[in-house]
Amino acid sequence: MQKEIDSLIKKARLEKKQNKKLFIKLKKMKGAPLDHKFNRLHDEVFKKIDCLECANCCKTTSPLFIQKDVDRIAKHLNMKPSTFENRYLKRDDEFDLVLKTSPCTFLANDNSCSIYETRPRACSEYPHTNRKKMDKILPLTLKNIEICPAVSRIVDKMKM
Ligand code: SF4
Ligand code: SF4
Repeated sequence: MQKEIDSLIKKARLEKKQNKKLFIKLKKMKGAPLDHKFNRLHDEVFKKIDCLECANCCKTTSPLFIQKDVDRIAKHLNMKPSTFENRYLKRDDEFDLVLKTSPCTFLANDNSCSIYETRPRACSEYPHTNRKKMDKILPLTLKNIEICPAVSRIVDKMKM
């Protein structure tokens, strides 16, 4: 899988301009048709992807943690929320709470998540291609082409 991830990321970088143009067109679609296009391809692509063979999101980016995530995970780990936050999180340039380290501290050697049941909402929703109002997160989705093989495949299918 690592070879495939590397080649998809390389391809995404080479096709950056083409992808930007596609996303400008997608932005004009908006609403339900755009959501349907992404959501249908999300289901199709994820039928053939095993995230446990990949984990590239957990290895290379940090989810945003909201207070509910901090409280839930800290409770699960028998810690005070402030201890959890001080030990594992920092504020980024936008003042959002993110992980101090990459790959994620909670990623196990077999690519599983050691706090799976209580993981941040942003993790459970990643790569956000099966949600509503896709027009609101097109810039994020464009970035994710270079991180997530599934997003890369979804976008490739849109070009067909
Ligand atoms: S969501 Fe994407 S980047 Fe994350 S493990 Fe699954 S395929 Fe890989
Ligand atoms: S909390 Fe779990 S799912 Fe989220 S980035 Fe870390 S290992 Fe991945």
